[in-house]
Amino acid sequence: MPQDRWERIRGGLYGLLIGDALGVPYEFSSPEDIPERHLIEMSPPSGFARAHRAVPVGTWSDDGAQALVLLDSLVTCSSLDLKQFSDGLLAWYRTGFMTPDGHVFDIGIQTMQALGNYARSGDPLTCSPSDERNNGNGSLMRALPCAFFLTPTSTDIIARARKQSMPTHAHLRSQLACALYALMAWQMVEGGTPIEALDYAQGTLEEAVHPTERLELGIVLDGRLEPSKGSGYVVDSLWSAIRCVLATSDYEACLRNAIALGNDTDTTACIAGGLAGILYGEQGIPVRWKEALNGRAIVENTLSRLAIGQATVA
Ligand SMILES: [Mg+2]
Repeated sequence: MPQDRWERIRGGLYGLLIGDALGVPYEFSSPEDIPERHLIEMSPPSGFARAHRAVPVGTWSDDGAQALVLLDSLVTCSSLDLKQFSDGLLAWYRTGFMTPDGHVFDIGIQTMQALGNYARSGDPLTCSPSDERNNGNGSLMRALPCAFFLTPTSTDIIARARKQSMPTHAHLRSQLACALYALMAWQMVEGGTPIEALDYAQGTLEEAVHPTERLELGIVLDGRLEPSKGSGYVVDSLWSAIRCVLATSDYEACLRNAIALGNDTDTTACIAGGLAGILYGEQGIPVRWKEALNGRAIVENTLSRLAIGQATVA
């Protein structure tokens, strides 16, 4: 495995987990209440009304845990087995699987409904709410590991990213947002610049979708014309994060920009942090943030299993 490719993969996984953990205390704040950029740290400045006060500093939330569940599932099964993956999501929800301390403190309403349905029906393809309004960023935030495996085709990446969305976010818009993000991340893992990777992802997805899916893809792609809000809506969340990557030249600035948007700060920073981690590699992540991350043994264990098994995932 080329050293620099592995460095980018490690950077991507740490990048998303650290983005999530960094954003947790700032979640739900409006942009005007977010501290000045240089004060955005794992521990917010004194006087800031932090969210999730009981959660230890440096703890990833649902975003990071679900991304680790997906990565673990891909490594375990050598492909995306939707039932095994959904069982992992349920184990996270019920027992804190892939959390640093067994404690689940952040779960989206839609994901809770979907996993409740899955617990009753056992069917990962029908358990998700799928109305147009059910397009939160809850499957986008965990999609990055789809891009970590050797020699898949773009068709494999698209299929894997869409499929992993199904158990909780089955609407076509969410599936396509995940596919765009995973394609972009994959190209960056392979060494592309963010702009090259984004152009590739858009062009590839436009060619790959079925004609009946073009309207929804248009809605996803048109999100690039809207201002960043850092909200929980999948289209805004995707483009808010991508713009943070495109507008900055190091990991730290990218994450601070993501959190400065306010609102769904942990998820915007997670989605942006995954791409920025790939772009700048593990070495580009500030040591103080990495050292502040809880649960690093879980990350290293998962990465070592990925290093052994990644060539075989289809
Ligand atoms: Mg979260």
